[in-house]
Amino acid sequence: MIADISNLGGTTVAVNGGIQVEIGRTRYSLDPHGQVRADYTFVSHAHIDHMHNPSKNEKVIASSLTRELAKARGYDLGETIEELEGVELLDSGHILGSRAIRIQDEVYYTGDASGRARAFLGKCRTRQARILVMETTYGTPEYVFPPTAKLVKEVNSLISSAYDRGSPVVLMGYPLGKAQLLSYFFSSWDPIFYHESVATMNSIHMDHGVPLKPGRRFDPLKDQDRLPRGPWVMVSPMSSGRSRLMAHLKKEHGAILVAFSGWAMGQGYKYAMGADYSFPLSDHCDYQELISLVQAVSPEMVYTVHGFASEFARDLRRMGFSARPLAAYQSSLSDYLEG
Ligand SMILES: [Zn+2]
Repeated sequence: MIADISNLGGTTVAVNGGIQVEIGRTRYSLDPHGQVRADYTFVSHAHIDHMHNPSKNEKVIASSLTRELAKARGYDLGETIEELEGVELLDSGHILGSRAIRIQDEVYYTGDASGRARAFLGKCRTRQARILVMETTYGTPEYVFPPTAKLVKEVNSLISSAYDRGSPVVLMGYPLGKAQLLSYFFSSWDPIFYHESVATMNSIHMDHGVPLKPGRRFDPLKDQDRLPRGPWVMVSPMSSGRSRLMAHLKKEHGAILVAFSGWAMGQGYKYAMGADYSFPLSDHCDYQELISLVQAVSPEMVYTVHGFASEFARDLRRMGFSARPLAAYQSSLSDYLEG
C-alpha cells in the first residue's frame, strides 16, 4: 500500500515500505523495512531499523563497510553496489560506513546524518539537489547540542571523581556507533571492559584502522561475578538502570550509570533510563545543523522523515523553503534505542 505520494516535475517520491523515489523509469527504494520491488535498494547504514534481508533479485546499493557490519548483525545484503552511473554515495557522518545518496542532481537522501565531526567520524557531506529527503530526528530548536570536547571533559572529570572514591562507571550507548565513540573518547581509563555486543563491533572498527584500545570482553552471562572490586570503566549497550545487569552492577559494585543520547537534552531522559547521569552525545544533526544541511543542498522541495518531521517542515516553510513531512514514515521506539 502506498501511503503518501507526490510528483514533482516527473520525479516521484512515495512511502511504500520505506521511501520510494522514481526518476525517469528507474525506481529506487531507500532504507526499506522489508523486501520491495524496485530497480535498486539503498541501505544507508547498519542500524537495525534500517536493515532487512533483501531478496536474491534486489540490487543493493550500500558501502562495503555497511555490508560487513550488517553481516556481523545477522543481515546478508549479498553483493552490494558502491559505484553506479548517476549515483553518488556521500559520507553521512552517522556511524562507520553510513552514506547519504545523491541520485543525479535530482534527489539527495540523508539517511541518518551527523552535522559534526566526532573522533574517527567526519561530518555529513552535502551536494546540491532539487529534492531533499532528510531525517529530522532532532528537528526542534531545543535540540542544539553542546561542543563534543566540552562534554568529553565533563565526563572525564566525572570518571575521575568516581575513581577517587573507588567506584566503577558504566558508559551506555547503542552498541554500533555510540559505543565506539565512547570506547575512543574514554580509552585512557584502566581497566576498561567492553560488553560483548560492543566488543564485536569494536573489533570490526579496529580491523578498519580505528584506533580503539583492546579492552576486556565482558559476557554478562559468564562474567557477572568475576568483575574486580575497585574502579573500572565499562562500555555497554543502552540498558535501563532497572534491568537485571545494571541493578546487579549498582548493588554489588556501586557502579555509576551514565547514558549518552541526543535525547539527554531533555531533563526526563535520565530518569526514564534509570541512569545516574546523562549527556547529549548524538550521532544525528542538531536543529542548527539540520538547517545548515538544507541551506547547503539548496533544494526546491524538502521532505522530512523521523522525529520532529512536521515541526521542522513548518519551520522550513517559515524560512521560505517548500517543505512537508512524508506521511506514514515516522519514527518508532527503536529510534530511541538505536538511532
Ligand atoms: Zn542510525
